[in-house]
Amino acid sequence: MQYRIIVQFAELALKGKNRHRFIKKLRKNIKDKLKIMDCEWPVQAIHDRIYVQIPNDTDIDENAARQVVTQLARLPGIAWLSFVYWFSEQQYRFLKPQPELTVIHDLIKRLAREQHQPGHSFAVRVKRRDKNFPISSQDFERQIATAILQNSDWDRVDLSKPDQTFYLDIASDGLSVHCEKVLGVGGLPVGSTGQVLTLLSGGFDSPVAAWLMAKRGCQTDFIHFTASHQPPGDLEQDKIVRTAKIVSESSGYVRLYVVPYTYFDMALLELDLAYDLILFRRFMARVATRLMPSVEAEALVTGDNLGQVASQTMENMESMNKSTEAMILRPLLAYNKHDIITLSEKLGLFEVCREPHKDCCALISKNPRTRSRHQILENMEKEYLSDYQSLIDDTLNDALVLTFYFGRLVDQQRVDRN
Ligand code: ATP
Ligand code: MG
Repeated sequence: MQYRIIVQFAELALKGKNRHRFIKKLRKNIKDKLKIMDCEWPVQAIHDRIYVQIPNDTDIDENAARQVVTQLARLPGIAWLSFVYWFSEQQYRFLKPQPELTVIHDLIKRLAREQHQPGHSFAVRVKRRDKNFPISSQDFERQIATAILQNSDWDRVDLSKPDQTFYLDIASDGLSVHCEKVLGVGGLPVGSTGQVLTLLSGGFDSPVAAWLMAKRGCQTDFIHFTASHQPPGDLEQDKIVRTAKIVSESSGYVRLYVVPYTYFDMALLELDLAYDLILFRRFMARVATRLMPSVEAEALVTGDNLGQVASQTMENMESMNKSTEAMILRPLLAYNKHDIITLSEKLGLFEVCREPHKDCCALISKNPRTRSRHQILENMEKEYLSDYQSLIDDTLNDALVLTFYFGRLVDQQRVDRN
């Protein structure tokens, strides 16, 4: 008997011509994630599934293999996955008229005893892909169910809504048995649909927005605007750093650009403009746009949410759009706050996002304008921020870039823009 992990694609089956590319990407993401966990195991895509073979000579036990399954479940593009027991065809040879199935019965009996819960019902599901297998699915299901009833405390079969299902899958090269499906997050494999740059702040919204884009197959980098020129003392403890790190557990390779907004702040110092928050949004969009070619981003992403805070009006978003040629994506625009928080819990972001963070927007303006006029903003920018190009250059020249790879901080350096 061997251990394997079966991975069922999410939407991949529907994607026509792109299918092959998506499968290749998901297979690579799985391989990369396994490698970072020191599990360099063979990963094969066959028909509508991916199979991870756990070599016999590894000292990994069933529990450790289940942990690996839990980690893989975070990768976008997976509908469900399962830790399975695998018997090659030689292990239960096709003796005529019946194959020798003792090894399989023995395993099923053990699993049935381990999984038993008083009062619960069960079902057996057999998928007979190999039509040469001499027992029909129905007969085999009955045979296994009888073995379970006779050899464990299970006493109730329910075919329509079982509490526990035992799955047997018979392919031409072997037979697999499993009894738990771990749900994946669905979506498309990261890196299969594009590259984006997310404006990351200290709240719940922008990390969840980035994650939603990752789930639609986008690789994301981050830019965060901070009040300080200095990198945080203990980088690994910094809230923004930890947030980016968590997103990278699912999305793999992620860069975080930490840039100071001091040059912008200094230019507007003591002016107390009613429009400073909107000017700041336009500034963030422009700096991020300048960074796009070097990170090969095709769009910017924000955590904007219509009406969530006073300044998140259509007009203000439009003012931000007008400040740049770049496409700005706002995946959370129509979400309820409650749904965003629930998602952040599911993604393991809740605890870090709820920590207090001095949001720079809050620092800049106490009573932000809810309406903005493009012409007024442009005039202000001409008057108070006359050398905008140098403002962007100075800001980016002070950037610190951190690189993450599947939840690990692997590099940090000052941006070299020369
Ligand atoms: P969040 O919950 O993501 O912090 P928010 O509710 O605080 O957002 P705003 O402050 O209005 O909302 O910001 C809207 C969006 O602008 C954020 O979701 C984020 O994409 C971007 N943003 C705000 N502040 C920053 C910052 N300091 N650095 C980078 N992006 C920012
Ligand atoms: Mg918000």
